[in-house]
Amino acid sequence: MCVIKTYLLILITIIAVNLVPINASIPLSSRSSIHNLLEINITYNVAVVLFDKDSIDYNSLSKTLTNYTVTSINYTIARISYSFNITWVKAPKWAIDDLVEWFGENYRDFGKPEWVREYEGYTGLKLDVLWIELKKFYNYLTTLVGKITSYNKLYVDDTIVFITDIDGYSRQYYTYSIEHGVWSNNTLYLTGIKGFGGIKPLVFYDLTVVPRKHPKPWQPFYGYGRSVDYINEPPLWSLDNSSIREYILGLVADHLKYHVVRDVHIKPWYTDEMIIELYILCFSNESVSDIVSRLDVGRVVDLVESVDPWIEYRIVVNIVDVSIGYESVLRVVEGSREVSGWIELDANKLLNVFDKLCGREGGCIGGYCREYRYPVYILATDKPSYMSWEGRLNFTAYSSRSHVTVSYPGYMYRVYRSGLNKVIAHEIGHKLGLGHPFQFNNSIRWVMDWIASIMCYDDSVLAGVPYTDTVSYYDREKTALIHTLALLNYTLSKNLVSDRVFNNVVELISRALFSKAFELIHSYVRGFREYLVDYILLSIIPITAIVLLLFTVKVSLGIRKKQST
Ligand SMILES: [Zn+2]
Repeated sequence: MCVIKTYLLILITIIAVNLVPINASIPLSSRSSIHNLLEINITYNVAVVLFDKDSIDYNSLSKTLTNYTVTSINYTIARISYSFNITWVKAPKWAIDDLVEWFGENYRDFGKPEWVREYEGYTGLKLDVLWIELKKFYNYLTTLVGKITSYNKLYVDDTIVFITDIDGYSRQYYTYSIEHGVWSNNTLYLTGIKGFGGIKPLVFYDLTVVPRKHPKPWQPFYGYGRSVDYINEPPLWSLDNSSIREYILGLVADHLKYHVVRDVHIKPWYTDEMIIELYILCFSNESVSDIVSRLDVGRVVDLVESVDPWIEYRIVVNIVDVSIGYESVLRVVEGSREVSGWIELDANKLLNVFDKLCGREGGCIGGYCREYRYPVYILATDKPSYMSWEGRLNFTAYSSRSHVTVSYPGYMYRVYRSGLNKVIAHEIGHKLGLGHPFQFNNSIRWVMDWIASIMCYDDSVLAGVPYTDTVSYYDREKTALIHTLALLNYTLSKNLVSDRVFNNVVELISRALFSKAFELIHSYVRGFREYLVDYILLSIIPITAIVLLLFTVKVSLGIRKKQST
């Protein structure tokens, strides 16, 4: 009996010791399940700052748009709408004087670009054109506008700045290229952009700019949407007072929709680790070595990390022989038509073929997985290739639920223009849930493309801004929101969070603190994972101990019985 007592004592101790951390780490909800839709309203305070020398009817402008609401995400888990409180600020005289002086000190004369000459021919106007370095100006403007908003004691989430004619010049902006490709290091690039937004929540529109035509023919939605031209996006010089007013109001509303709300068209999901499997499909050794020379996996990781810093990325590069295991891809490429020496790949066919090859659904069950493998196929064809959708829409790369495909060098040499690494990072950005800054739902407005984001199409913006800055403020916040929704969905399906945590997460979302909301919910999901590990380990040990104990007791009782008989 003494042996049994000892075993029992050991058993009780094991169970007691192991149960303590289990109880401490289970954040069990009191609810059985939640399926109802979360109604989340996010309020943003927006300041619109106007630099103008009384050429615009400020009073009627500032009274027209003070509140604005847009519904954005409509998932099963949540409907999110945004409310904007808009404060219009007329830049004071000291700020305008400061700006005029700064322009005077920083103007450079690179002459008139061809698009300004074209505009002059079109309108019969003659313009004085001077050039400003984009990034330097953006930094200066951020400080200046910061002074104005703090002087007015404004707490703002977002600032939109309009600059009109303050010194008689039509300004144009230039950048320096940093990508290898069409523009080499320190090459001057004349942009012709009229609006720009960087990593700070500030966008400016300079209405004196004569915009360069946009989109360019090598961009996928060329010919779609409201293009940037003299009619749709006129410079100040061809607008009368009432049309300036309408134009500014339209830009404010669209900025809020396209850059802040921005439609996200995938189901929210999140993974702790993404393994990007690059497959360079070898049709020609020469193309493969060209691709390898342009590929920099460290840079791809840097770029995707700047879009989404919460996921850990790993890149694996494979160079594969297409004749083994990729016969279906080979058939699509061989059956493609040739257009002036280029292979026009049918994206529809490639999508089907690669979907079958991946054999994966894509996405994580319940919206969350610890590890996710995402294949990227780069077609190293023997002749230059691009992709086409139903023979109409030409482009370079696409991302689907299960994979990415990149043609080489892509439509109008896009891979050379933007850089292969950026093309890959852009497609992964889509997988992470980001849309283009010029797209909202199904509408396209190209002037919204001029935001420093890896998701934008404009080469000059991508070229001129160092890659560490190429992601806008909203991209990162948006990914945090998507992740939060995915994890909320997952934790709800597992009944994992308490009411308190749930409400805290929703509260943080409603205050637009997406990163904070994500970190909070993520700590619970990670906690649950650790709990699962604990649970398995700590239940196996006591159960094994019980089984062993019972077995030993039985054996020892048997021995005693034997001894007693
Ligand atoms: Zn895209």
